[in-house]
Amino acid sequence: MALMHSWLESANAPGCPFPLNNLPCGVFSHGGAAPRCGVAIGDHIVDMAALEAAGLIVLDGAPLFGAPSWNAVMAAGPAVWRAMRGRLADLLGEGAEARAAVEACLVPQDGAVMHMPFRVAGFTDFYASRQHAFNVGTMFRGPENALPPNWLHLPIGYNGRASSVAVSGRDVRRPWGQVKGPDDAAPRFGPSARFDIELELGAIVGQPSDGPVTVAEADAMIFGYVLLNDWSARDIQAWEYQPLGPFQGKATATTIGAWIVMKDALEPFRVAAPAREKPLLPYLTEPGPMFYDIALDVALTPDGGTETVISRTNYRSMYYSAAQQLAHHTSAGCRMEVGDLLGTGTISGAEPGSYGSLLEMSWGGKEPLKLGDGGTRSFVADGDTLDLRGRCIGEGYEIGFGECRARVLPALADPYAR
Ligand code: CA
Repeated sequence: MALMHSWLESANAPGCPFPLNNLPCGVFSHGGAAPRCGVAIGDHIVDMAALEAAGLIVLDGAPLFGAPSWNAVMAAGPAVWRAMRGRLADLLGEGAEARAAVEACLVPQDGAVMHMPFRVAGFTDFYASRQHAFNVGTMFRGPENALPPNWLHLPIGYNGRASSVAVSGRDVRRPWGQVKGPDDAAPRFGPSARFDIELELGAIVGQPSDGPVTVAEADAMIFGYVLLNDWSARDIQAWEYQPLGPFQGKATATTIGAWIVMKDALEPFRVAAPAREKPLLPYLTEPGPMFYDIALDVALTPDGGTETVISRTNYRSMYYSAAQQLAHHTSAGCRMEVGDLLGTGTISGAEPGSYGSLLEMSWGGKEPLKLGDGGTRSFVADGDTLDLRGRCIGEGYEIGFGECRARVLPALADPYAR
C-alpha cells in the first residue's frame, strides 16, 4: 500500500505519524469545550462530534462521537469501524468536495488536551515475549528454570486493575511498598528502590463475547492498539509474586498512548509468528499471520538533561499474539467486554539494546545502563521522563502511535500523612 494523499498537506509530509492511512482515535478537548472523540490527521484533529453534527458522517447507531470515549463506536461493531474509515478517507482525501465544511471541523493538535481515549472495562496483562520471560526467569530463578514449564503452551497472564490505567502525559509517583529485608531480617515498608518501566502494546477489545472464542474470532473483536508502559516496582514484585503473581508491584500506574491505532490501519503490516518450539493446542493455533511489524523505541530523559534512546525493538519478536491472548482469556468462559485492555507483556528482542525493561537492560542493576549525557541508570530515577514510540514503516508513509510519555515524581515523604 502507498501513501493515501490528503488535501491537508501536513498529512502527506515524509515521516508524518498520522497520514490518511492511519486515522487513529483519541479523545481531546480544546478551547473550553467538553472532551469528545477526535481522529488525528497530519498536525490536526478531526472533531468527530462536530463532523457528525454537521451531517458529514452519519453511521449506524449515531450519534456516536460526542461522548468522552470511543466505547460507543467500538460497541457499534466492525462494519461501523470500516464505514467510518471509508467515509473519513473520502472527506479528507485529495479532491474531496466537502473540503471547506470538513476544514471547519479541524482543530490543531497544538493546544488540544488529550484524555483517556476509552473507558477501560478491565485490564489483563500478559507475559508473551520469550526473551523477556527468559531474562526475568534467569534473574529470579536461574537459567535452568527460567521458562516455567507452561510457558511454551499458553500465554501466561494475570488480571490487573482498570483503575490504574492513565493516559500519556500524567506524571507517575514512585510508590511505597513492602519489600523483603536483607537475609532473614523482617520486611520493610518504604519507597520502591527498583522502579521500572515495561515497553508493551495494549490491545483494545471492541466487541463483547460470552463463552470461548477462536483466535480468528478474537482477532475480529480487537478494535485497535495503543502503546503501553506498565510501571513496575521490582522490589515489591519480587517479594510478593509467589504464588499468585504480581499485585502491588504493578498497582501504581499503567500509562497508555493517547491515540488508538485501529487494527485496519495495521493490516498491511501483518507478519507471521516466530517458529513454534512446541506445537500449540488447537484452540491457540493461528489461522494466519497475527503479529504486526511495529518498530518500537524507548527514550529516557533525565530531569533537565538530554534524551537517550535506551531500547529499539519490534512487536514481531513476540511469541503469543493479542488474538491468542484474547482467545485463551475466554477459554474457561470469561465474558469479555467492550473496552477490555490486554497488555502484551514486556516486548524484549533477542539482542541487548532491544530489551523492554530496565531490569533487563541493567541485568537486575548489576550492569548499570550508560546514558548519552554521562549518567547511569539501574532503574528509573526521580525526574526521569520515559517516552515509548511506535511506528510501522510502509512504502512512502508511516503509521505512528503518537506520544506515550510520563515523568517520575519522587516518593512522598509519608504516604499516610493526612
Ligand atoms: Ca507488564
